[in-house]
Amino acid sequence: MAKRDELCLNHSDRPATTRCSSCHKPVCDECVVASGGGKFCSQACADRTANFQAHAAGVKGKGGGGKMVKLVVKVVILTVIVLVAYVAYQKFVKGKSNKSIQRGLQRDADKLQDAADDVKKDVKDMAE
Ligand SMILES: [Zn+2]
Ligand SMILES: [Zn+2]
Repeated sequence: MAKRDELCLNHSDRPATTRCSSCHKPVCDECVVASGGGKFCSQACADRTANFQAHAAGVKGKGGGGKMVKLVVKVVILTVIVLVAYVAYQKFVKGKSNKSIQRGLQRDADKLQDAADDVKKDVKDMAE
């Protein structure tokens, strides 16, 4: 006498040859429903797995990941610009003491800092 779980779900006198990929019930060759995602006991199980896979793929594909990457790249570029501007500003301050040049550079550095802060805010909004 074979064990109960080795018999087909629908035929109590037939041995099961496979198990449903979704609910793990045993089924025979005649009852098995073959689908892209595997072998199933019924069309319902096949559909459930197909829907789940489609949903998982959709979440992976969308999710605003591309937008996020673009924002991060923007932040990195702006940070580099701000750093370069800051270093240049420091050099000017030490090298020359022309106050109008200093003021102009300070303005530019402030503008760049503001732009960087805006992008950082965008990233924070998206993360929340
Ligand atoms: Zn099933
Ligand atoms: Zn069967």
